[in-house]
Amino acid sequence: MLKVYEELKFDNPDGGAWKQGWRVTYPEGKWNSDNMLYVFVLPHSHTDPGWVKKFTDYYTQQTKPILDNVLNVLSADSRRRFIYAELSFFSLWWESLNAARKETVKRLMKNGQLEVATGGWVMNDEANAHYAAMVDQLIEGNQYLHGTTGFTPRSGWAIDPFGHSPTMAYLLKRSGVTGMLIQRVHYTIKKHFARNKNLEFMWRQLWDKDGTTDILCHTMPFYSYDVPHTCGPDPKICCQFDFARMSPSPYSCPWRVPPQAITDSNVADRAAMLIDQYKKKASLYRSNALFIPLGDDFRYDKADECDKQFNNYQKIFDYLDKNPQLGVKAQFGTLSEYFNKLHELTGSTPDSKPEDYPVLTGDFFTYADKDDHFWSGYYTTRPFQKQMDRHIETSLRSAEIALTLAAVYQKKHRLTGFPEDQMMQLLVEARRNLGLFQHHDGITGTAKDFVVVDYGERLLKAENNCRTVTAEAVSFISMATKSDYKQNRFFDIDETRPTHVSLIKRNVLQVSSEPSAVLLYNSLTHPRQQVVNLHVSDPNVEVTDAHGKVVTSQTDPYWTEPSIMSQERFKLSFVAEVSALGIARYQITKKRKNVHHSLGKVTYYNSEGPSEKSAFTVERKNSMEFTLASSHLEASFSGSTGLLKTVKMKSSGQVHKSEVSFQTYGARSGKERSGAYLFLPDGPAKSLRVSHPVIRVVSGPVVSEVSVFINHVQHVVRLQNSPGTDGRTVDMYNLVDVRKETNYELAVKISTDIHNIDKEFFTDLNGFQMIKHKTFDKLPTQANVYPMPAMAFIEDDKTRFSVLTAQSLGVASLQTGEIQVMLDRTLNQDDMRGLGQGVRDNTLTPNRFKLMFESRSAPPIKDRTSGFPSLQAHMTYLHLVHNIQILPQKSSVSVPPLISQHSFLSGSLPCDVHLLNLRSLQQSYDGPITRSDDSALLLHRLGLDCGISSHGLPCTDTQGKVRLRDLFSDTLGVKEMRRTSLTLLHDKGPTSLDSDLTLNPMEIYSFKVKW
Ligand SMILES: [Zn+2]
Repeated sequence: MLKVYEELKFDNPDGGAWKQGWRVTYPEGKWNSDNMLYVFVLPHSHTDPGWVKKFTDYYTQQTKPILDNVLNVLSADSRRRFIYAELSFFSLWWESLNAARKETVKRLMKNGQLEVATGGWVMNDEANAHYAAMVDQLIEGNQYLHGTTGFTPRSGWAIDPFGHSPTMAYLLKRSGVTGMLIQRVHYTIKKHFARNKNLEFMWRQLWDKDGTTDILCHTMPFYSYDVPHTCGPDPKICCQFDFARMSPSPYSCPWRVPPQAITDSNVADRAAMLIDQYKKKASLYRSNALFIPLGDDFRYDKADECDKQFNNYQKIFDYLDKNPQLGVKAQFGTLSEYFNKLHELTGSTPDSKPEDYPVLTGDFFTYADKDDHFWSGYYTTRPFQKQMDRHIETSLRSAEIALTLAAVYQKKHRLTGFPEDQMMQLLVEARRNLGLFQHHDGITGTAKDFVVVDYGERLLKAENNCRTVTAEAVSFISMATKSDYKQNRFFDIDETRPTHVSLIKRNVLQVSSEPSAVLLYNSLTHPRQQVVNLHVSDPNVEVTDAHGKVVTSQTDPYWTEPSIMSQERFKLSFVAEVSALGIARYQITKKRKNVHHSLGKVTYYNSEGPSEKSAFTVERKNSMEFTLASSHLEASFSGSTGLLKTVKMKSSGQVHKSEVSFQTYGARSGKERSGAYLFLPDGPAKSLRVSHPVIRVVSGPVVSEVSVFINHVQHVVRLQNSPGTDGRTVDMYNLVDVRKETNYELAVKISTDIHNIDKEFFTDLNGFQMIKHKTFDKLPTQANVYPMPAMAFIEDDKTRFSVLTAQSLGVASLQTGEIQVMLDRTLNQDDMRGLGQGVRDNTLTPNRFKLMFESRSAPPIKDRTSGFPSLQAHMTYLHLVHNIQILPQKSSVSVPPLISQHSFLSGSLPCDVHLLNLRSLQQSYDGPITRSDDSALLLHRLGLDCGISSHGLPCTDTQGKVRLRDLFSDTLGVKEMRRTSLTLLHDKGPTSLDSDLTLNPMEIYSFKVKW
């Protein structure tokens, strides 16, 4: 795709009826009774699980009637078809059906009249969503669908996500899907593809050398998925074949020519008009099969509409059947029927490439539907919910793993007491709430304010559920005698969130002269050494590890205002060590004298600082450059602004420029302005003026940090003395508040000395893979902004600079050496994409990043289109988002004897193998949710750049070799593992537990585990 971008001019000439294309013609008589065009007309209804209405309101008011109607109209005539996608709605509907209606649904699926495509919980966003959450909602949807109806999806259907990612193609391919459809592709690219008959292609992963990831992809050619833009190039004609717009109707044709009912007297004329459009559309594709979607948002919600569409089309189909000389055989057909025909006509199979079909690699970001309307705003819109989403995602994974381990342990040791079914119910609710948010109006931030509130409340519920499950499972596992375990008694995760728009609050551990236990839970499959911090009631403490050894610790003030410290709450930091997939018990005791403990030293610049007395030393200094250091880094900061200037890597002595600044954009004036979807800036970014802000530095043996208080941002840069990955990176945290502004966008920019030639930069797609972009001067600023769910980097022959992010945001590299990350946006107006409002519900929003410089041992390969993070960057990212979870004992309880440390692995997994999930399966889909004894194990082998060496990692790289028998410790006793497709619907047979299994780089492997 990068090559296509380099070639295209991105001009926008008027193409006539097909405004963004050209006047399409085809040779007279091309299609005739000897060379038929096979047309598959597919009724569909796009049902958003939340957008301008709430999920449940859409369900009761529209989606339930739609699905009820579909069941009736399909049952009435076996020639009719329908496609559906969103399992979140389907599940509500299924539960409302009686046994007979359920049987009808199954029959219609079995005989091919009703196709469920993709079968995700939602039609997920492909820009901001992380692959872990995408997989999760796909498994939840596929499992529900199969568990209730026995149906297995074969085709992918994504007509509305705002740009498309190859990660989705990969996930579908590995789920057993053989053909997929996409719609929102930049109009110039659609036109370019249409010219070359490349709208259908084998979509291949950037990193795939032999085509094993190829999946047939159909791109819709025109502006939209509504009927005017799906029958052919002329919307004025096509609209006349949307019989739902036939009066009386709530819909009409903006081209002012209404549809006419098909009668014996007009059928010849009407059919001729329609097949002319079909033939024009068909001339943009390679085969004689043609796909025609027939639907729109929330269509078929009235019985009358269903009759109009199905009956009128059937009359045209019957007429064409009687007149084969017209060269068109048309019928209702599902997407899978269409793909089958395509394979039949091209002499290929669903697993093979039709001859002459092109292979494409790359992505479809950034999408524009017209003019310079690039949809890069939604990469950042509602960043609070985006960061909350990622936090819950990793909490859910932790909870999934903890529940499975606790429940399997309980079963193996014939114990009772751990409420596994109750925990399973909480977890399923969390999965579904988080799954719902992956919808392309959820995580994108493109729903109405009250829908955002609804999503927020569901996310909060999910977060609380995950916390409960993890706390209970970890408590149970930690008991030296498991029968001592009591539900909701001993430990809690040390964070709470009062409302769905609050920042996370840390609980305060009340320390006393008696040791208090704190459990640390590491859900990653390698041992970790990392700085953890918790809030304590006294600054003077002693921390002992699982072996009873006193560890170095530091207490810093907890600030309620820039210059006011709390007298009741203090921030304790120490380097913790937790084994692979393990739990460690630490103890914290109040202690006056402890040589291993220090109090943070506070220094203020540009301010007098606190006036009250405290246990901490406070100094005041004049504006002069200052430095902070950790074991591996030294960072220098401006004394007048407090912002980062350089980073020195101690091992090599190299000093890199890394100037942090804040940038702002306004919204351009005129009729078309920035909104929830669109970023239409009023010009280049302006630097936010920072003049002598309050700068507060706290330093100590464990953590040193500088906090700067500037207009709209509380900005914190932190260095940590840790042997782990956190000792080798600069931690950046911002607390953003743009509530007082209008039409205002804020970004943080890091300017480095990296010479990235041609302004090449790399961003991740869904945290799964990296793709190369170039900043093109021929494109406006908004076109050069890309999604950054996990990381971005720039590099030259010697050095790579990466920004890792704990939340999805937009990113650009507009000038050589720079990475700019969008942080928040507040916009006064609607951007005319149907939402009908601006974005003004901003709230205090945190975001967190890791900045890292790495030396290259070899220059990067030229002309590549993808890239890989180093192993160090992968580990740093995993550590950034998958916190070591902290479970302090509840106050005033006496805790029974605990095991001091525990690992569920017999060793540690290789560094480059990530345990994506260990997920408990649902026993059945009838009646209450219970846990099955089987679980799903998902392993992902990470792809690495070997030209960058890693340092001090607690695990090794075994070239992807894993012995499954060695994976889990004997206490769990794995009986059998079977390889399956990604979402567990296709069984691929048992896998040997005792021989080495080689996992290929980048691939995700699913197994069904019997314990
Ligand atoms: Zn939609």
